[in-house]
Amino acid sequence: MKYRAWTQCSEGCAGRFELTDIVYHCPQCGGLVEVAHDIESLKNRSASSWMRLFDERYMRTSHPYGSGVWGKKELVFPGIQNENVVSLYEGGTNLFWAERFGNSIGLEDVWVKQSGNSHSGSFKDLGMTVLVSAVNQIINDGGDIRAVMCASTGDTSASLAAYCASAGIAAVVLLPKDKISRHQLIQPIANGSLTLALDTDFDGCMRIVETITKDSRFYLANSVNPLRIEGQKTISIEIVQQFDWEVPDWIIVPGGNLGNVTAIGLGFLMMRELGMIQRLPRLVCAQAANANPLYRSYLTGFEKFEPIVAGQTLATAIQIGNPVSARRAIRVLKDLDGIVEQATEDEIAHAAALADLTGLFSCPQTGVALAALFKLAERKEIAANDRVVVISTANGLKFADFKIGYHAGQLAGIDSKVANKPMTLPDDVDAVLATILSHEAEVP
Ligand SMILES: *Cc1c(COP(=O)(O)O)cnc(C)c1O
Ligand SMILES: [Zn+2]
Repeated sequence: MKYRAWTQCSEGCAGRFELTDIVYHCPQCGGLVEVAHDIESLKNRSASSWMRLFDERYMRTSHPYGSGVWGKKELVFPGIQNENVVSLYEGGTNLFWAERFGNSIGLEDVWVKQSGNSHSGSFKDLGMTVLVSAVNQIINDGGDIRAVMCASTGDTSASLAAYCASAGIAAVVLLPKDKISRHQLIQPIANGSLTLALDTDFDGCMRIVETITKDSRFYLANSVNPLRIEGQKTISIEIVQQFDWEVPDWIIVPGGNLGNVTAIGLGFLMMRELGMIQRLPRLVCAQAANANPLYRSYLTGFEKFEPIVAGQTLATAIQIGNPVSARRAIRVLKDLDGIVEQATEDEIAHAAALADLTGLFSCPQTGVALAALFKLAERKEIAANDRVVVISTANGLKFADFKIGYHAGQLAGIDSKVANKPMTLPDDVDAVLATILSHEAEVP
């Protein structure tokens, strides 16, 4: 094997494990393990040669390299056999030039990375393809795995269910009862996963999954598992690639369990290490004010981090009080001159609705990131001509009830400032025409 990767303790204890070894925590200190790559061997190939290779593979048909994740296989999981890769052609998502939206807040160069326009409708697919491929390799090498399991705020379970069904692997998903959208709930059901709604919150589901997966026959699919982060790292690489290898000034991403913000930071750090880029963007993590443990830590200069009990938020996918990746997120935020912002429920709903009026279709989590963008632009931390990329994390169609509720003016405590109520009219040309004429001047 030319390129090598392994896992090791993220707190610095000695010892290395294979990516297919079932080790989530360091046996010595209990800290999380992380993936490390043999950077020296990767450096034997020049940065420009890597970039050319990635461009050649990007969105082509040769399996598995056409996938946005597996096109960067050597930087993700070099040791996986191609026949074990479970890919649903993830990545390769649109970088939406949000020209009208940016201009509406005085910015000239705002982009939205549509990483939720993916097979199961969220960016979770980018990490799940790596994790389920590893499980597939373990099973095909004779390993005894009965099921892959996760706790979820809705999107992890949807993604796990799809990849497992595609590979013929059993999946079990634990969900906080009545705390995820209907559209997210139907996904693992339709894909045949054992779907368990528990009378607790996400953090409660997570505690149960962590206990059960101490038995290695039940494989843990939450982002405690470092393989997911490796796949999600490719978001950064793909963004830079889409800008013809230019680095944007800002990346804004909503954060819950804080795996994605970590992955995005690590993607940029790895590209810099390999000489593919010379500078780093500033990284902004946006949290819902009702579920904001990282924001609170940021206010202390990251001196302390204290888990909280997450309050209710429209951004249900980030309603998490005890994020698994808090320590590693803080580390990468420090490396990328990071900022943490928060958004109230009203700010979340308003930002999502305004963005939609310029052609987007934003989920509430993306609304959190957009609201953070408003604040940074207003404070002039982001300058008018800075290049900003907002990470859209899920397809808005998964959160149809949120959007219907907004436009019907029925979200508790939300002032639906730009609600667009459908009108009911009689079967009558004159009535229809009169209504159109009375609205003629209204372009959003
Ligand atoms: C999982 C998820 C997030 C949060 O990502 P973390 O890695 O948990 O911080 C944000 N938005 C959506 C739509 C998600 O599914
Ligand atoms: Zn350790």
